[in-house]
Amino acid sequence: MPKGVYERKLKPLIKAGDKFDKLTAVKFSYRNKDSYQFWLFRCDCGKEKIISINSVKRGNTKSCGCLLKKGGNLTHKMSKTRTYTSWQKMKERCLNKKCEEYKYYGKRGITICDRWLGKNGFINFYKDIGDTLKQGYANTNAWFITSNLEALKHIGLRPSRKIKVFNAKLEARLVKYEMYEGSKKAKKQNN
Ligand SMILES: [Zn+2]
Repeated sequence: MPKGVYERKLKPLIKAGDKFDKLTAVKFSYRNKDSYQFWLFRCDCGKEKIISINSVKRGNTKSCGCLLKKGGNLTHKMSKTRTYTSWQKMKERCLNKKCEEYKYYGKRGITICDRWLGKNGFINFYKDIGDTLKQGYANTNAWFITSNLEALKHIGLRPSRKIKVFNAKLEARLVKYEMYEGSKKAKKQNN
């Protein structure tokens, strides 16, 4: 067998100095049996850790772990929530022509109101979840799970129950909202 036939030229996937959130690539460490590359990263907090570069590039790992312990800043907390992910995916489907599902959404003319885009888009998205519950789901109970207590306030409903739960390492709240017919807001709208 001629030498080199089975040797694949490995593209440098990242280089020293590349920054991913709080992590800065220091140097290549090893390749595991599935040929995934592991690099040594230095976190903004000073700690060094060997991490799979796939995990870092995908954004699954953003720090040495200190971010999860502290809870990170608001933006990071938000980026971990399911609602944020669905909001992101919704934007992709409707606006990104390269998205696989674009043909079912954006291409068919499905778009997103300006209210859900831009800087306050995510907050408005939470608000509208609350409003939708108030207006369209009278006499029902809604359960909502989030790790973002800050964003939870924007739902604008008073939970009747709050249960502390963990989504992997992430502390979250499972909250129950009981919707009544003729809540203040609903009354105002009917008159
Ligand atoms: Zn750290």
